Amino acid sequence: MKAFSYERAGSAREAAAALLKTPNAKFIAGGTNLIDLMKLQIETPTHLVDVNGVGLDRIEPTEEGGLRIGALVRNTDLAADKVVRRDYPLLSRALVSGASGQLRNRATTAGNLLQRTRCPYFYDTAQACNKRVPGSGCAAMEGFNRTLAIVGASPACIATHPSDMAVALRALDATVETTDAEGRTRRIPLDLLYRAPGTTPHLETTLERGEFITAVTLPRPVGGTQVYHKVRDRASYAFALVSVAAIVQRDGSGAVALGGVAHKPWRKPEADAAMPQGAKAVVGQLLAGAKTSEHNAFKAPLVERALGAILADARARA
Ligand SMILES: Cc1cc2nc3c(=O)[nH]c(=O)nc-3n(C[C@H](O)[C@H](O)[C@H](O)COP(=O)(O)OP(=O)(O)OC[C@H]3O[C@@H](n4cnc5c(N)ncnc54)[C@H](O)[C@@H]3O)c2cc1C
Ligand code: SF4
Repeated sequence: MKAFSYERAGSAREAAAALLKTPNAKFIAGGTNLIDLMKLQIETPTHLVDVNGVGLDRIEPTEEGGLRIGALVRNTDLAADKVVRRDYPLLSRALVSGASGQLRNRATTAGNLLQRTRCPYFYDTAQACNKRVPGSGCAAMEGFNRTLAIVGASPACIATHPSDMAVALRALDATVETTDAEGRTRRIPLDLLYRAPGTTPHLETTLERGEFITAVTLPRPVGGTQVYHKVRDRASYAFALVSVAAIVQRDGSGAVALGGVAHKPWRKPEADAAMPQGAKAVVGQLLAGAKTSEHNAFKAPLVERALGAILADARARA
C-alpha cells in the first residue's frame, strides 16, 4: 500500500471541502472495497477523508410517503429495518444476498453504490485494463469473460457493476442525493449516476470531483410481489453471475432490473411494459442487441429462466 495522509470530516459539506483541498484524495466509508484496492495499488489516493463521523446514518420517511436512507447507513441495518422489510422487501433481499455478515456490518449505502467492478483483469495488475490504466487495452475482451457484460458495453470495456443493492434500488426507482463543498445539492436518478463505459471506462459515475452522496431516496411503496433472484457459482459469499430484481403486481404489470449483465443495473421502460406478456418478451427487450462471447452466452437464457420462474411463482400466489 502507498503512504497516504488521513483526516476525519464532521459533516457532509466539510467532507466535500476536504476532498477538494488535496489532489488525488478519496472519501473512505466502510473501507471494504477501497482498502482492498489500495492494498493492490489499483487505487493510490494520497489523502483519505474519513466520512464515518458525518452522521447521515438514519432511515427516515420522506414528505412524499417514501424513504430517505442516509449515505452512512450500514447494509446490515438497512436490510433489517422494519419499514424496509415491510414496504421494500426487494431491497432487504438484495442486501442479504451480498457479501457476508461481517462485510455488511461495515459496508455503507453510498460505498455500496460506488464499489468498483469485479472484472478479474481489473484486479490483475499484470494485465491490460482500460479502467485501471486508461488506454492500456482490455484483456477481458479476448480473455475469460464469463462473468462480464453482454449489454451496454463498449469495445474499451465489458465490465459489470457488482452491487446487488443497486439492482434492487433501480427496480424501486431510487434517487441519489448529493452535496458539494458550497452546499449545492443535486438529486440524481440512480440510472443516471452511472456512465456508459464508451471510450473512458475509468470514468464511472456522473459525480463531480468532491461531490458527496448524502442519501438515497425511495418513492412511495408500490407493493406487489418483490423478488431478488441471484444466480452465482457458490450458494453464498459470491458475486452475481446474473441477478433479477422483480416487482410483480396482481395484474401482471411491474418492473424488472438485471444485475451481472451490464456496467450498471439494467432496466428499460419497454421491458417493464412487456411484463404481462411474460419472461421471453421482457428479456427480449432488456437484452436486445446483446453481444455475447462463447464464455458468457449462457447469461441470456439464464436470465429468461430466472424471470420465468419468478413470474410463474407470482401468478401462483396472486
Ligand atoms: C469478499 C467480498 C465479497 C463481496 N460480495 C459482495 C456481493 O456479493 N454483493 C455486493 O453487492 N457487494 C459485495 N461486496 C462489496 C461490498 O458490498 C462493498 O465493498 C461495500 O458495499 C462498499 O461499501 P463501503 O462503505 O465499505 O465503501 P468504501 O470501500 O469505503 O468506498 C467505496 C467507494 O465509495 C466512495 N464513497 C464512499 N462513501 C461515499 C459518499 N458518501 N459519497 C461519495 N463517495 C463515497 C469511496 O471514495 C470509494 O471510492 C463484497 C466485498 C468483499 C470484500
Ligand atoms: S472489461 Fe473493463 S475492467 Fe475488465 S479488463 Fe477490460 S477494461 Fe478492464
